[in-house]
Amino acid sequence: MSNSSLTQDQPLFSALSLRPELLQALSAVHYEQMTPIQAESASAILQGRDLVAQAQTGSGKTAAFAIGILNKLEISLFETQALVICPTRELSDQVAEEIQRLASALANTRVLTLCGGKPMHDQLNSLKREPHVVVGTPGRLKKHLEKGTLNISGVQTLVLDEADRMLDMGFYDDIMSILDRTSSRRQTLLFSATYPTEISSISQAIQRDPVEVKVAASDTTGPIDQEFFFAKEEQKLEALYRAMGKYQPDNAIIFCNRKSHVQQLCDTLNQAGYHARALHGDLDQRERDEAILLFANKSVSLLIATDVAARGLDIDALSAVINYDITPDPENHVHRIGRTGRAGLNGLAITLVDPNEVHRVQAIEQFMQTEFKIGELQAYDRDDSPIPTPETRTLQLSAGKKDKIRPGDIVGALTASAELSKDDIGKIKVQAKVAFVAIAYSKAKIALKILTEERIKKQKVKARIIH
Ligand code: AMP
Repeated sequence: MSNSSLTQDQPLFSALSLRPELLQALSAVHYEQMTPIQAESASAILQGRDLVAQAQTGSGKTAAFAIGILNKLEISLFETQALVICPTRELSDQVAEEIQRLASALANTRVLTLCGGKPMHDQLNSLKREPHVVVGTPGRLKKHLEKGTLNISGVQTLVLDEADRMLDMGFYDDIMSILDRTSSRRQTLLFSATYPTEISSISQAIQRDPVEVKVAASDTTGPIDQEFFFAKEEQKLEALYRAMGKYQPDNAIIFCNRKSHVQQLCDTLNQAGYHARALHGDLDQRERDEAILLFANKSVSLLIATDVAARGLDIDALSAVINYDITPDPENHVHRIGRTGRAGLNGLAITLVDPNEVHRVQAIEQFMQTEFKIGELQAYDRDDSPIPTPETRTLQLSAGKKDKIRPGDIVGALTASAELSKDDIGKIKVQAKVAFVAIAYSKAKIALKILTEERIKKQKVKARIIH
């Protein structure tokens, strides 16, 4: 397979025998050509075969299994027919969103996420009507099964997403006890970024004659321009400024090897005038969610993260990945940089290398079977390349799904007077009790005024700019 995920010779979704509503949804989100993982797994998935696939975030794996789930869903049957088990809440949210997007033309499809860290009470309410598709983390799913609040005996398609990560996190027993409550006639799809022996053992334990598909890491991404630069530890910050001045990425994830460095670097960058947020294990769930939301909304342009915190994160159109610290693990390097150059777009990966760490570059060269030059970053005049302003600011509203607010209501309120147009409005996310809306940077204050003065669905809501 070629090194780009979307090339001329990739097959088209229209060649698959999919229900028309699904084809319509795929074309609405502009998925025309299949990515390699989709092309290689689609026919097995659609035939109802079990599948074990080695594929990473960014490969298009979510759509690959979502198509399988949705193509055979019986909407008129109010029963949980598909279950996707994910290691983290972030991944569960992303997976549920993708399934919902592809189900947009299948009226009344209910997709529910069940993850820890969320109030049990809200989930119990949502479970009063059985959802068609459930996406969740092992611990919380098990809790619902034990309480008898979730019934998965009718599940036809079961997906284990990032199975290697779930095993790393010690979820084996939970997964097995969840699977015990499903029918043995189910179709089981197992996705994993790596393929250690534990994965083949679990596959043997839970699957029947699975089709095996493997997509090399280099097949999941578009061409990535890799640049390595020397920077001694104490000169790294200056080197980072120089690299950002030279390449001017619209947005970037910056990787540090240690979480203590993540927060420190984030604070320093914000003081220097950049718009950055940190993502590491010491943050609480709300802070993590907010960092990811602001970055995805393009209200902050830099996300400083550890590997663990950034795993599974799917951000569209990431201009660059910057390795502030080079990783000692070459496979991890490939995972990191695979976040840029998604779905055929060109990507940029910048890696700072302390002269004592040149052996790490050599390990990466060996692993990727290629050679890199390590260059020097020239000084640059900051006046020539000012820090770019983010595209948007994000506003939080004090009302959500519970108040029957939908994205359309927010757009309606914002555009009621002629002060704002639809083009000024970016991503909208409506959660249970709050909602977030991204607004063009220069229009945020106008939006704030409108939202505080206008009523949304006849309700007065509070609004504030969070970044
Ligand atoms: P995933 O590996 O499932 O996290 O998907 C990576 C990204 O690729 C997501 O942002 C998807 O929206 C996008 N994507 C998936 N399949 C396609 C496709 N066939 N064409 C274009 N984009 C896609």
